[in-house]
Amino acid sequence: MQRAAPRLWGAAASWRRHLATGVTSASRGRSSDGPASVAALARSGAGAYVGGGGQPGAPGAAPLVVHNPYTGGRVATLSDGGAPAAAAATAAAAGAAAAWAATPTADRAAAVGRWADALDAAAGDLAAVLVAEGGKTLADAAAEVAYATSYLRYYATAAAAAHVDAVTPIDLSDGGGGTGVVTKEPVGVVAAITPWNFPLAMLARKVAPAVLAGCTVVAKPAAETPLSALALARLAPLPPGVVNVVATADAAAVGDTWMAAGAVRKVTFTGSTGVGVGLARAAAGTGKRVSLELGGLAPFIVTADADLPAAVGGLLAARLRCSGQTCISPGRVYVHRSVVGAFTSALAEGLAAAAAPGDPAVEPPDGATRVGPLIHSGAVHKVQALIRDALDGGATLVTGGTVVPAADSGGDAGHVVTPALLTGVTDRMRLFREEAFGPVFPLSPFDTLEEVVGRANSLPVGLAAVALSDARVPFGGVRLSGVGREGGLPGLDPYLELKYTLLG
Ligand code: ADP
Repeated sequence: MQRAAPRLWGAAASWRRHLATGVTSASRGRSSDGPASVAALARSGAGAYVGGGGQPGAPGAAPLVVHNPYTGGRVATLSDGGAPAAAAATAAAAGAAAAWAATPTADRAAAVGRWADALDAAAGDLAAVLVAEGGKTLADAAAEVAYATSYLRYYATAAAAAHVDAVTPIDLSDGGGGTGVVTKEPVGVVAAITPWNFPLAMLARKVAPAVLAGCTVVAKPAAETPLSALALARLAPLPPGVVNVVATADAAAVGDTWMAAGAVRKVTFTGSTGVGVGLARAAAGTGKRVSLELGGLAPFIVTADADLPAAVGGLLAARLRCSGQTCISPGRVYVHRSVVGAFTSALAEGLAAAAAPGDPAVEPPDGATRVGPLIHSGAVHKVQALIRDALDGGATLVTGGTVVPAADSGGDAGHVVTPALLTGVTDRMRLFREEAFGPVFPLSPFDTLEEVVGRANSLPVGLAAVALSDARVPFGGVRLSGVGREGGLPGLDPYLELKYTLLG
């Protein structure tokens, strides 16, 4: 295996030295004061990581303030570089592109593997970041760190590298044409735009295959959760400029800069359908490739002969994960009319026993699931509006739906919504047409399987009928839930251009 030039790895080596100090406590899952800690990121104050270092804010630009969704307290105040930082990031990524593309794939895979090691070592710090900026519970935060790391591990494997290096011969001799070969090349600079609900894992799922493929990246996290993306970039043992992050309150300015830049050859986005479609439209002007992972409204169907305790357990686990703030969360629950009463009682009992609304940073009682805050007050208002719409339309609220203020916030924050169980929900209600993105369990009766399958498939979205994904499987939606797949070997293809060469 060839080694990359040592000069390229200088920045990485210094990060690894920093990391060594935090390894022991972090590897036991505790937080430390390493480079991925809340304290270090807040101290740095840099909202952009460009060309291997922090980038100053734009002159006169207001800083980007990161709040804790549970306490409402200030977590960090970051410089906001806006469009100028986005342009600097593009230049850094374009400048690093040729050397990174020329680095042997095996060396790139080894670097991605070391990146995974760095995440493992900083796992406690990263989980603390996700709790602080995203309001994640400790369990959800630890799970997200492991999930993010699994993408880096997967794209560090020999199988992934072999997929990038694969050469496919095409025998054209019967037409007198000799032999052709198809090889793969990195597409170039990739713009990655990610949401706040899985700020570490969604970015890892994009940058790991991009970097292995030989691309360089400019990334924009959501304004609510910039710290985890900055931490991921700071932990990368990669040459300066390969991974750049720009955090900003002005998403459109950064997005427009990258969509207009000819040097950016691909955009990969996870977020809402409206923003994704707008980016695709803008990307068309410079002929960029586009991957979109958009919203869904997954159906959960309970048949007449279902194992009700198992159905309740499965639904609670899937819907309470991240307090209902995942795009594959089962938001429409169809229950056969003959078991509506039994299922509703069992679910209400399950919620009373298993759901523990409150401080995400505090472990819940044994066997219970902590229900933490929604990301901000806008999210709380949306959940309340959707519940009100259902009640106005004739649905019944069996339990929950109240907002619990944080103890120390003066009633102003908290954003914890007690899990709401509603019956008599119909397809016309907003709860069955829009993502609530909260701990809401809307139940609707059905009579026949044919009817319910038709209703389940009636929306223009189609993301998931599963509760979990895995780094080895291609994940993505159909129709208005997205374009393209992330994960597995197919997850590498959007970052690779096929090149045909005729030999002889
Ligand atoms: P959500 O409703 O989950 O916040 P969004 O689609 O608004 O979903 O956000 C997903 C990501 O898209 C975030 O990083 C956000 O800042 C970004 N974003 C929002 N609007 C734009 C835009 N006009 N251009 C580029 N990125 C945008």
